[in-house]
Amino acid sequence: MKEELDRLQNEVRVSLSQASTQKEISEVRVKYLGKKGSITQILKSLGTLPESERREIGQIANQLKQNTETRIEEALSRIREKDRREALEREKIDVTLPGRRIPVGKRHPLTQILDAIIDIFSRLGFEVVEGPEVELDYYNFEALNIPKGHPAREMQATFFISDDVVLRTHTSPVQARTMEKKRPPVRVISPGAVYRCDSDPSHSPMFHQVEGLLVDKGVTFADLKGVLTAFVHQMFGKETKLRFRPSFFPFTEPSAEIDIECFICGGKGCGICSNTGWLEILGSGMVDPAVYKFVNYDPEEVTGFAFGLGIERIAMLKFGINDIRLFFTNDLRFLRQF
Ligand SMILES: [Zn+2]
Repeated sequence: MKEELDRLQNEVRVSLSQASTQKEISEVRVKYLGKKGSITQILKSLGTLPESERREIGQIANQLKQNTETRIEEALSRIREKDRREALEREKIDVTLPGRRIPVGKRHPLTQILDAIIDIFSRLGFEVVEGPEVELDYYNFEALNIPKGHPAREMQATFFISDDVVLRTHTSPVQARTMEKKRPPVRVISPGAVYRCDSDPSHSPMFHQVEGLLVDKGVTFADLKGVLTAFVHQMFGKETKLRFRPSFFPFTEPSAEIDIECFICGGKGCGICSNTGWLEILGSGMVDPAVYKFVNYDPEEVTGFAFGLGIERIAMLKFGINDIRLFFTNDLRFLRQF
């Protein structure tokens, strides 16, 4: 019996030293100290031993039971400590590591220019209005004094959806739509995409314009000059020279295009300004009285002016870009430069 107890003692020691999880240790506990465990069985059988042996074996067996309990506790705390260390290691945070940068996008160069234009005209008291890109022939042409068969239609290579519906070729139809809904005074700008069948380094089938309209009592050409001069000076710098050059648009009379002195060559003449020293940036004019009759305004009572400019053109000039198509190819190497 003594040998049996010795053997059990060794067995417990070996089993505990091999156990590496709490589960394995509790299996050892069950195996030796459980209800049917080997040490428990021996303690239960003490009564069957001859009296001479009972006391000595009893002592040794009880000692073994206590030792086993102590060893199990020690093994358990060893494993708990190991688990804790491993968890700490797993969840370790190195606070000295640099943070992960979230890449921040930028506004598209055309959006930057458009925002600047809206900002300038807002400060001059203009309100932003928008209109549909798929437009009735009536608003795109007829209400702007461009009847069917008018030669001005030839100047705007048009995408037709049907005989009466087009992709708008300019933002000017918003003029007619605004005046239909609103009585004077009217002071609006209308930015947006426009479409023409054209594609080369200086033309894109889709591009952007800003249309402006101011109608009120007693508006004169001097107001047109004042507002657009203020715009040019805020957009290109207050030293910028500009000139008003007579032109023709079917919906304004008189009409003027506005040129600014070429800032590449300073007016001496270069490739960008076709050696003229001037860059064309805006079309404008006094609203033709014929346009008022489409919207029931009385041309005896109100006058006004309208203007239009190309956002791509201004962006190309300001940023020195030579191909309009670069705006729409979504090449990040290009876009990141602005
Ligand atoms: Zn030039």
